[in-house]
Formats: sequence, structure tokens, C-alpha cells
Amino acid sequence: MKWTKTFIQTLREDPQDAEIDSHKLLVRAGICRKTASGLFTFMPLGMRTLRKIEQIVREEMDAAGAIEILMPALQPAELWQKTGRWDTMGANMFRLRDRAEHEMAMGPTAEEEVTDLMTNAISSYRQLPVTVYQIQTKFRDETRPRFGLMRSKEFIMKDAYSFDVDAEAADKSYWTMYHAYERIFARCGLKATPVQADGGDMGDSMTHEFHALADAGEDGIACCPVCGYAANLERAERKFTAAEAAGEFPLPTEIHTPGAKTIDQVSAFMGVPGSAFVKSLVYDVDGKPVMVCVPGDRDVNDVKVKRFLGAKKVELANNAMVLDATGANAGSVGPVKPADASLRIIADQSLRGAKGRIVGANKDDYHLKDVDFTRDVKIADADFADLIVCGAGDLCPKCGKPMELKRGIEVGQVFKLGTKYTQAFHTVYKSETADEKLCIMGCYGVGVTRTLQAVIEQSHDKDGIIWPASIAPYQVVIDLLDPDDAEVVKIAEELESQLELQGVDVIVDDRAERPGVKFKDADLIGFTVRAVVGKRGLEKGGVEVKRRAEDKSQMKIVPPAEAAAAIVAALG
Ligand code: ATP
Ligand code: MG
Repeated sequence: MKWTKTFIQTLREDPQDAEIDSHKLLVRAGICRKTASGLFTFMPLGMRTLRKIEQIVREEMDAAGAIEILMPALQPAELWQKTGRWDTMGANMFRLRDRAEHEMAMGPTAEEEVTDLMTNAISSYRQLPVTVYQIQTKFRDETRPRFGLMRSKEFIMKDAYSFDVDAEAADKSYWTMYHAYERIFARCGLKATPVQADGGDMGDSMTHEFHALADAGEDGIACCPVCGYAANLERAERKFTAAEAAGEFPLPTEIHTPGAKTIDQVSAFMGVPGSAFVKSLVYDVDGKPVMVCVPGDRDVNDVKVKRFLGAKKVELANNAMVLDATGANAGSVGPVKPADASLRIIADQSLRGAKGRIVGANKDDYHLKDVDFTRDVKIADADFADLIVCGAGDLCPKCGKPMELKRGIEVGQVFKLGTKYTQAFHTVYKSETADEKLCIMGCYGVGVTRTLQAVIEQSHDKDGIIWPASIAPYQVVIDLLDPDDAEVVKIAEELESQLELQGVDVIVDDRAERPGVKFKDADLIGFTVRAVVGKRGLEKGGVEVKRRAEDKSQMKIVPPAEAAAAIVAALG
């Protein structure tokens, strides 16, 4: 392919709204162009890389025995109403009506749609197991679309769904997909780590997310460098030491703490460390108040609270609810004798047996000291649970060694769904003994467009992208420095056709531009290997061949006749 025959648009300036390197490079290198907030056009170079990633995904899905289908992106509301998700998906789902006033959604995912399909298609155990997949555009009205393709309103997802006869078979399907995901990301040149995760809206059974570790990642991951335990902070656990139950404390007494609301402020006011306090927050849990207590130097993990309570929605309570439940405003509330004596209080497990703590007094501008959680606080034994966000240095729940915190970009997720959806749709098969049984389901997503950008985030330098050969828009660029010199053109074209014959994707930069411009663009776009064919170079001995990832000192000069072989070798 000749550069002048395609439509490559590189930019010198970073886009104004781009916060992270991969977003800047995505636009500057002509991979994507923004259409509107959270909406992107794939430009010709981006299309080529996108198609290559899709092909890798397709090959690995097929190899894992999954079967490709394509379902409508426009989905009728009735499907979502069957599982109740029409209401719980909230504002994240794009909704519309057709001309007959039927409510519809632009699919953010497709569990309902595929389960409906399979309910009609499956009748006998002989048809199982079956895993279907599609590579399709999904729509989500994200609260904050940002970081380019990482969090967009419209994106391409590979979603797969497995249907099995029992839990054991479903387990096999799950791990088959898990291993396929490892291969997909490895083949895309992405270092992706599987981590334990929270099931969120999908149910609370087993799930792993695949994270591309990168500082720009939106998720926190707790990792154990010793045993390899890795979990999203939303679910990461820690080995904790029970609160020391030393000595007896006098009954709690009030301390006047005017204006001090946060733990930091009260701790500074009293000259006591944050760990001596208990942080108490009132949450609105599906419309009812619940107080959550954690050590003063730790944060409440909303996701763990939601899972523990089995709630649909958990958010901080408004002022009126806090006042009603405790008798004070936020900042002065605590677990000792709240105004509403029936208020449910739950606490982090590390507070079981805690003594001598300082808590809000449920009276504005007052705290209580010497609080004993076994004596002064009414918390049911079963309401002590793991409710905090893990931090660096917390001990690994598996091996007890200190954990590290990393950041990750979620590029894929695998879920065991059990019968959550097949129950709602009555997806049954006839067993060998002619009993009717529910199918057991799993679902598996890869963010195809997010993966593309995650590769850029992991593989770039100050000059531009460094594409792995497997998904580079073109693996090789031939910088033709003297497009008017017939001899030079001949050598470049011969090299191009030799490479094409060997199945290498190659582009010849035949523009009438200065060498500097061509080199800059080649580095910015990040073709895996660059070959320079010019009059001066040929006089000096041949074609310059360099991998994008290497610096100039590693450049090889090879005779034209050996250039194709040298390039193929450099591609690895
Ligand atoms: P996130 O937590 O980042 O919002 P999610 O867990 O809601 O993502 P899933 O429902 O698991 O996403 O979707 C499968 C995959 O689709 C994700 O692992 C991610 O790679 C991708 N994805 C999800 N939302 C977006 C988005 N707004 N833009 C681009 N890719 C996305
Ligand atoms: Mg996910």
C-alpha cells in the first residue's frame, strides 16, 4: 500500500481534552477522531488494528469451541423487564421508543437477549454445552465518558454466553473462557492480569476481571508479590489482627469538639491518631438508613457494603435521613445510642471487641471517648464483616505477606451466572431421564476497543506508539526518501512486493515530504519495523532496518537483496 493512496491523518498537537498518553496518541497518530463526547470514528489505521484484534478474538473464541452469532443492538424493553433490570440499569441505559411507542434500549450488554434466544432454542441435554459469542457495538450512557476509547458511550465488545447442564459443566466452560482470554491478550501484546472481582449487577458468584496494569488505570488492584493473590479493591480482602481487648475503660464521656467534623479535624483537635477513632457513616440502603462503622484511618468500601447487605442501591444518606436516624448531623454521628434505637449498625470485622475508641456522640459538635464495642454498642454478631477498602501494606488474605497496590484497566471479565437469568426466562432442557432442569449460565466480555487503547497505554514512548507486530495497522513502513529517483523507487517497490508475498502488512511512505517528517510520523504511528530506502543510504551500503522499539544505535544496514529477510526477522 502506498501512503499517498490511503487517508492517514496525523496531528502535531495533543487534543485538548486528552488526559492520558494513550488518548493523546490515539488521536495524534490517526487511529481515531472524536465525533462528540464519548463517541469516536475509527480512521483507516485504527480500522486495521481493530480488525486484527477482532480476528484474534474470533480465532480464540472459535478454538475454545464458542460459536459466533450476531444479535440486534436494539433490544425490546420486555426482555429487560423479565429480569427487573429495566429498572435497575438506571440512567446508564440508552432508551428510546419506536413509532408504535414500544420501549426499547440500545443494548449495554445482552444477557437477557441471549437467554431469550436460548430459551426457545434449547430443549434437550444433547444440545449442551453450548457457548455463543458476538462481536458487537454496545451502548452505555456513562456518567463521565473519558480517556478516549477507555470509557466511551459506544464501544465494541465481544460478549460470549455459555449454557450448561450443571454446575460442574459450567465450571469447565468458565475456565475454558478464562484461558482463552489469557491467550487473546497475550496475542495482542497486552500484559493482562486476571484478578478476583465483584459480581456487581451480574450476581455475586465467581468472577475474574482481566486488567492491563497501567498507572492510568481507573481500578485499584491489591496484589501479593509473594503468592500472586490479586483482587480488585472493590473485593480485595486482608488478613487482619483482631482489635486488642486490653484493659477496662470507664463509661464513655462526651468531649466538646466544636467545628471538627472529619476524622482528620477531630484527630488534630484532640491530638490523638486517626486509628483511635471509629468512622461512622449513615447510608441510604434501598431507602432505609444503615450505619456503617470502620476504623478511623480506613475507608468504607461501598461495594462490600452493598454485597454484604444484598442491597440494590447503596448511597450516602441525605441530611434529613442522617438526622432522623442518629439525632445529629454527619460528622457527629456514632454507634452509641442513636436517636432511632432500631437503626441497623454494621461494622468492619476489625472492630469486633474494640475498646477505648472515640466516636461521634450523636449530638452536634460532640464526640464520645472510651467507647467499648462489646459494652456500649448494639451490633449483632453477624453484622461484623469485611467492609473496608484494602490499602498498600495490608496483609494478603492467602499468605499473610504485605500486599501492593497497583492500577489496572479492565479489558475483560468472566462471570459465573448460575441460574439468575435462566430462572427468569425459564430456560430448561430435558435431561437423560426426561426431567426438566434449568440451564446454568456464564457470561464473558472483552472490551475490544478498550483493549486497543490499553495496548497503546502499555506500549508507547515520548515519540509515539510502539505497536506489537500482531496488531500493528501496518507491520512495516518503508520510508521512501527519494520518490523521484527511479532506481530508489524500484528497490522500494521490490521490497514492498517481496514482503507482501510473505504476508507482511507493509506501507510505503511515498509522500513528497522531508525525511524528518516521514521519520516523525513513522515513530508517532508506531509501525513495528521501519525500513529506510534512499539514495544516500543505498550508496552507503543499503536499506536501514530498525525496530520501532529499538533506538538508532541498533539500526542495521542491509543490502537490498537481503532487506526482506532482515525485516521478517525483525518482526519476530
Ligand atoms: P467498567 O467497570 O469499566 O465500567 P464494566 O465492568 O461495567 O466496566 P462489563 O459489563 O464487564 O464492563 O463489560 C465487558 C467489558 O467491556 C469490560 O471489561 C470493558 O473492557 C468493556 N467496557 C465496559 N464499559 C466500557 C466503556 N464505557 N467503554 C469502553 N469499553 C467498555
Ligand atoms: Mg466488568
